[in-house]
Amino acid sequence: MKIETIAAQATHKIDPATGAVAPPIYLSTTFERDEDGEYPRGYTYSRSTNPNREALEECLALLEGGASAAAFSSGMAAISTVFMALSPGDHVVLPNDCYHGTTRVMEEVFSQWGLASSKVDMSRPDQVREAVLPNTRVIWVETPSNPLLKITDLGEIAEIAHHAGAMCVCDNTWPSPLLQQPLALGADLAMHSTTKYLGGHEDVMGGALVAREENDFFRKVRLIQNNCGAVLAPFDSWLTLRGIRTLHLRMTAHSANAMQIARFLQDHSRVEAVHYPGLEGHPGHAIASRQMSGFGGMLSFQVQGGKEAAMQVAAGVRLFVRATSLGGTQSLIEHRASIEGATTNTPKNLLRVSVGLENAGDLIEDLSQALDGVGRDR
Ligand SMILES: *Cc1c(COP(=O)(O)O)cnc(C)c1O
Repeated sequence: MKIETIAAQATHKIDPATGAVAPPIYLSTTFERDEDGEYPRGYTYSRSTNPNREALEECLALLEGGASAAAFSSGMAAISTVFMALSPGDHVVLPNDCYHGTTRVMEEVFSQWGLASSKVDMSRPDQVREAVLPNTRVIWVETPSNPLLKITDLGEIAEIAHHAGAMCVCDNTWPSPLLQQPLALGADLAMHSTTKYLGGHEDVMGGALVAREENDFFRKVRLIQNNCGAVLAPFDSWLTLRGIRTLHLRMTAHSANAMQIARFLQDHSRVEAVHYPGLEGHPGHAIASRQMSGFGGMLSFQVQGGKEAAMQVAAGVRLFVRATSLGGTQSLIEHRASIEGATTNTPKNLLRVSVGLENAGDLIEDLSQALDGVGRDR
């Protein structure tokens, strides 16, 4: 089955009781036991298994070409589960440019539980090799990275990880399985904030881990999912799967719009730099062209005139919404350094854009008038 067919209908079943074509939502927290004490239908209690979550997990495994998937109540719950499945004393190599929550949960929570970590430029395999220690268990990749859109060669990092007896985990939230298949490129685990493109409509939070093999590590992930209980609720599972049904169409449109906006920004005199792997001049363009089937809907750019000018552009937009997050139908713009807090390395004049599904010309017109307004009294 091709990925578009998986997205549109995999794991879908006609409801045998009613013939309903859209899947029912199973809100029941508990399921009936037989007289002999058995659970012949496989469901006991919703934290352990739920039909809606199961359908989503199966679909995610198919989309990523993995053996098994586990869905969580947020992307951060999925990330935390990976770290909880390690042991005190283990070491993790993190990218120095990645979702700030990943670094923060390591430094503020898991360091107290005995996990060690170091940060490197993941787009530089030499730096990654040097950072690997005898106790390294995970090399964490996020490509394209947040917010600088750096590209990491997944195959090369997976090889470094495996050579060191470690796992390569890829946060695949930004490209989604439609544009990048980390497991096929050598990663052991693909991680998602399904809050973003998989859900796709800014109305449901969730996270997921998809494993290449159902191995001891993934059995531990399942154990933590059930024991610690950060599971995705039935309605949220239903909404996420509903979002996935149009993922292929949305990702194509997000990518096409982002490409046009990146070209517009690149030619604009008030723009200092544009970070988008689809641009030929992007340092990761060659690798991205090889390992992605499209460049995605995320980009960032730096405005001439520092933080002040960047804030003025963000203040001047009318169609874009000033908000964090990404992956929905509506375009969002964000001054990234101010949400990442005092410890951020993000350039102060950088704006991050989640390109939505509006008409590209309308979006360009909006950015154009906002850029023209810099320095003008409002
Ligand atoms: C949003 C995001 C996360 C965190 O996911 P939540 O659903 O907000 O917990 C992790 N990684 C990336 C790349 C993200 O964009």
